[in-house]
Amino acid sequence: MRSMRVLVAMCALTISRWAAAQNPGDVARLMQDAAVKAALDAARTGEDQVIADQIRFCEIPAPEFIEAARGAVLKQVFEQLGLTNVRVDRAGNVLGDRPGRAARPRLVIAGHLDTVFPEGTDVHVTRAGNLLKGPGIGDDCRGLGVLVGVVRALNAARVETPGTVTFVADVGEEGLGDLRGMKALFDETLKGQIDRFVSIDGTGIGLTRVAVGSHRYRMTFKGPGGHSFGAFGLANPIHAMGRAIAMIAEIQVPRTPKTTFNVGRVGGGTSVNSIPFEGWFEVDMRSSDQASLAAVDARVQAAVDSAVVQENRRWNHPGMVTVEKKLVGDRPAGNTPAESPIVRTAVAVAGALRRTVNPGEGSTDSNYPISLSIPAITVGGGGRGEGAHSLGEQFDTTDSWLGTQWVTLLAIALSQGGAAVP
Ligand SMILES: [Zn+2]
Repeated sequence: MRSMRVLVAMCALTISRWAAAQNPGDVARLMQDAAVKAALDAARTGEDQVIADQIRFCEIPAPEFIEAARGAVLKQVFEQLGLTNVRVDRAGNVLGDRPGRAARPRLVIAGHLDTVFPEGTDVHVTRAGNLLKGPGIGDDCRGLGVLVGVVRALNAARVETPGTVTFVADVGEEGLGDLRGMKALFDETLKGQIDRFVSIDGTGIGLTRVAVGSHRYRMTFKGPGGHSFGAFGLANPIHAMGRAIAMIAEIQVPRTPKTTFNVGRVGGGTSVNSIPFEGWFEVDMRSSDQASLAAVDARVQAAVDSAVVQENRRWNHPGMVTVEKKLVGDRPAGNTPAESPIVRTAVAVAGALRRTVNPGEGSTDSNYPISLSIPAITVGGGGRGEGAHSLGEQFDTTDSWLGTQWVTLLAIALSQGGAAVP
């Protein structure tokens, strides 16, 4: 009973400090708090466990759309750590609450379950000293390891936050997942209930506040097809596709805001001696500026339409080759302003840990809340990553505990009550 009263008194003291944690001085004072200090110590001393979790999660395959097995393990861990209302939503996101003194504000911290690696990829992780190697070890197994590490650190120090923190292991961040996890989370599962959002994605002490939007299409060219010798003279869907790609390759885009395009995958045809009945490619375009994104999108579409006309005209077969343009990815662009409280808090938190962060841009889970004007940032989980999205992906654990501390302190600073960090 007595110890309870001491704890409550300590929390009351803590709250008054948390009420204004956006300035460097406030965060420095916050770090003098006994419970906060203890949480940061736990984040440091618990790093071996974070790394063990990172490896364990990573060795469970989680290709896009097949994240359930990895999700089930995260669910189990959330339950073991005493999170409440642990659940899997319709999309496959795994959620667990760490209730504060009030339901709101609600901070959501997330790491994504999915990887870019297809089924059958060897996801075994090897370790040599500080170097971990394995597909997904940084992106985003590091995020998942730190996500759980933050819960452990807050629990170890018995930190009681004014607002509630909901931890989420989400689906559909990569590739054609198209942020379906975030769309479900913000539009259904916790619609209207999320006040602040932090995604832990990738490595280092990074901070992303600018959402690079993207449009992705699968362009499918079709025609009757036939024998390469006998039916010679038919318009050819793969030739049309080649014309389109050649035109896309010549598109000029602005350097600022950085705007890009890439044909990343092609396919089609059945044999070298057949005029194909089908050819397809996938193209990705990106920009942090919605208008620039729309402009490059229009040029890509025009190139595809013009390529079809040219190919049909070449063989004098109007309408023989046709194209279907299917939008397979649509991530909104936007940004959380540099002077917004959530960014200022994150910069102050990094400063308190004697690190500087330069808020940058990226395409992450935060794109979606940013498009809804909900304060959102994406942060790195510490350590040093290399070769994300490649089979040779690596993670260097040197001082990676700093990443766990950074997200732990950020969680505490952002779970304060009141409207200081709207
Ligand atoms: Zn990622």
